[in-house]
Amino acid sequence: MSLDQSRRAEVVIDLHAIRYNVRLLAGRAADSGAATMAVVKADGYGHGALPVARAALDGGATWLGTCSLAEALDLRAAGITAPMLSWLDTPDVDFAPGIEQGVDISVSSLAELGRVATAASRVGRAARVHLKLDTGLARNGCHQADWPALVKAAAAEPYLDVVAIWSHLACADEPGHHSIDAQADRFHAGYALARDVGLNPLRHLANSAATLTRPDLHFDLVRPGIAIYGLNPVPQQEDLRPAMTFRSTVVLVKRIEAGESVSYGHTWTASRDTNVALVPAGYGDGVPRTLSNRMGVWLDGRRCPVVGRVCMDQIVVDCGDDVPELGAEVILFGTGTDGGPTAREWADTAGTIDYEIVTGMYRPRVVRTYLGAVAR
Ligand SMILES: *Cc1c(COP(=O)(O)O)cnc(C)c1O
Repeated sequence: MSLDQSRRAEVVIDLHAIRYNVRLLAGRAADSGAATMAVVKADGYGHGALPVARAALDGGATWLGTCSLAEALDLRAAGITAPMLSWLDTPDVDFAPGIEQGVDISVSSLAELGRVATAASRVGRAARVHLKLDTGLARNGCHQADWPALVKAAAAEPYLDVVAIWSHLACADEPGHHSIDAQADRFHAGYALARDVGLNPLRHLANSAATLTRPDLHFDLVRPGIAIYGLNPVPQQEDLRPAMTFRSTVVLVKRIEAGESVSYGHTWTASRDTNVALVPAGYGDGVPRTLSNRMGVWLDGRRCPVVGRVCMDQIVVDCGDDVPELGAEVILFGTGTDGGPTAREWADTAGTIDYEIVTGMYRPRVVRTYLGAVAR
C-alpha cells in the first residue's frame, strides 16, 4: 500500500448492510412472486460493482443489472454467472462478447434489434434480449408508436430469444403520482401486443421506489438500485441500512483566537477563541465545495461544524473547547443512526439526491474498505 493509499480519506462499504437490504427487498418481491435484479451500474452506485454483486446474490437477488455491456462483462470476467441485463450502449458497441457470455441485452429500436441479431448470427447463438418500451419516461426505450413493429420483428428473428419486455418509471419516488398508473396501463398494452405476435416474455418495471410501494407492479422481476445501498427513495419510513460510510481523521489541532478567519476567502471568522481540527479530505476526495460552512462532521461522539471553505484536500472543523486526539476518527457521512451526518443530508443541502453523492464517491485517492465480504 503506497503512502497515498493511507486512510486520510476512506470509504467503508458494509456488505452486511447490502445483504440485509437485498434480503428485505427480495422478500417484498417474493411476496408478489417476483425475482430480484440488483442494479450495480456505475460501479455499484460508487460502492464497487463486484463486491456488491456478490453480496446481493448472497442476499437473495438472482439477477444483476448494469448500464453498459462492459460493466456486465467485467462481472462475468470476475466469475459471476448469474443472469445479467445490460441496457445502454453506443451504436458502435460489439454485442458479440455479451452474447457469448450470456449477458442479456436491452433493445429499444429496430436499428438496435438488427445490430444484436447480426452479432448473434455471427456468434452462432441466439441473443437473449429484453425489449424496452418507453411508457412515458421519454428517455431510453421504444416509443409506443414503433412498438408493434419492434415486437413483430423480434418475434420473427431466429437469432433472438425475447426473454422479457420492460420499462422504467418516471415518478415512482412520488407515490400516487398520476404518471405511475398511466405508465402501468401502457405497459399492460405493450405486453398484450407482444403476446399477440406470439411472444411469451417476462415483464419488469419496478425500480426501488416501486418495489417498496407498488407490489402490483412487481410483475416477474424487480430492479432495485438505490435501496440495496440502504438509501430510501420514498417518503415513507423503510427499514434500510446505508452501506457507505465516508471517514477521515484528525491530523492537526490548534487554538485560534476570536476574530481569526479560516480557509480560502476568509468566509468564516471565529466569534470566540476556539479549537479547530484539520481533516485531510476535500473536494478532491468527494466533499462538495458547495457544502462550505454548511456541513458538519461526527467527531468524538458529537456533531461539529465544518468552518470556512472546503478545499481540494482538506476541511477545518470547529471543536469549541474540545481537544480531539490526533488520529481521531471523523465521520463525514454514514448511517446517521447516532445522529451523525448522512449522504441524504449532504444531498439535501447541496441541492441534489443521495444517488449522486454516493455514486460520486469513487475517487482514485479515496481508499475503499469492505466489511463482511462474502467468503468464496
Ligand atoms: C438505475 C436504474 C434502476 C434502479 O433505480 P433505483 O431508483 O436506483 O432503484 C432500475 N432500472 C433502470 C432501467 C435503471 O436505469
